[in-house]
Amino acid sequence: MTAPTWPHPVYDRYNARSLYEEDPVLAETSDTQDTGLPEALRFQSPSPLVDIGANLTHESFARDLPATLQRAREAGVETLILTGTDLAHAEKAAELASEQDGLFATAGLHPHAASEWSAALEAGMRDLQRRPEVVAVGECGLDFNRNFSTPAEQERALEAQLGLAAESGLPVFLHERDAGERLAEILHAWRDDISRAVVHCFTGERRTLHRYRDLDLHIGLTGWLCDERRGHHLRDLLSDIPLERLMVETDCPYLLPRNLPAKLKGRRHEPALLPWIVREIAHWRGNSEAEMATATTTTAQRFFDLEAQATPTRPSKEGY
Ligand SMILES: [Zn+2]
Repeated sequence: MTAPTWPHPVYDRYNARSLYEEDPVLAETSDTQDTGLPEALRFQSPSPLVDIGANLTHESFARDLPATLQRAREAGVETLILTGTDLAHAEKAAELASEQDGLFATAGLHPHAASEWSAALEAGMRDLQRRPEVVAVGECGLDFNRNFSTPAEQERALEAQLGLAAESGLPVFLHERDAGERLAEILHAWRDDISRAVVHCFTGERRTLHRYRDLDLHIGLTGWLCDERRGHHLRDLLSDIPLERLMVETDCPYLLPRNLPAKLKGRRHEPALLPWIVREIAHWRGNSEAEMATATTTTAQRFFDLEAQATPTRPSKEGY
C-alpha cells in the first residue's frame, strides 16, 4: 500500500460533511485571516494552557497557520497537541510538531475512517509513534452516532491501536460518540496493558462518566458545554470529574463555543479561544479560572509526559 497523500481524500470527505452534523460546513475563509480576532475575543489565560486537541492540519488553517499559532501564544495557550486522525494527517501533524517548540502530535486512525485499517497502515502508525514529538496513540475510538465505518470495523481498528499503545507505553487519545458502554467494555479488557487514556471531547451522561472514572480514564472537555442545545447537561457533571483527571481542548476548527461574547465570521474555532472554555468550566465547576488553568496544564504535562519529550532528543527550533 502506498501512503496516502495529504490532504487525504477520505478524511476530506468527512470534513466536507463536517465531523459534527450540527456544525455548518466551515466557510472557505475566516475573518481572522486578515484582521486577527475581534477585541472581545482576545482572551488572556492567567497561566499557560495546553490545548490537548487541535486539528491544525485541517485545510481551514492552511492559509494562516503562523498567525494562528501567534494568537494562541498571545492568549497563553503555549502548548498544543495536534490531533492525527489518519496516517497522512498524523504525518503532517508530526512534521509540524518537529519544526516548532510547544507543538506535539498524536498518531492514530479516527473511527470514521476505521474501514481503512490494514497491516500496512498499522506499520506506518507504529513508525510514527516512535517519533519523539508523537506523544499519544489516537485519535481512535468508537462513533456509533455516524457509523461512517461499521461498528465491527471500528472495533477492529480500536483494538489494534490499543495493542500499539500497549506495545509502546504511549497514552491513548480516544474519541467516543454514542458508544460509551461498548468503549468502556473494551477498555476494561485492556486497562491493565495501557498506561493512560483520555476520552477527548466528552459529551456523555453521568452513567458513562462514572464508568470512565472507574477505569481511571482522563476526560477532555471542549466548548460543548457552552452549547445550550445539547451541552448544558455537562455543567452538572463537572463536579464528578476529579480535577487531576480533567484536561481542556478546543477540537478546533470544530465546535466553536456558541456563547462567545462576539461573533466570529466563518465559524472557525482556534486555540486562542481556549481560555474562554476554561473560564466556563471553572465557573460551572466552582473553581477559579487560575486554579483550572494550572490544574489542567499540570495534568496534561503529566499525561503526555511533555517534559521528557520537550528536551534532549529534539533539536532547538524557531519561533513559537
Ligand atoms: Zn474526536
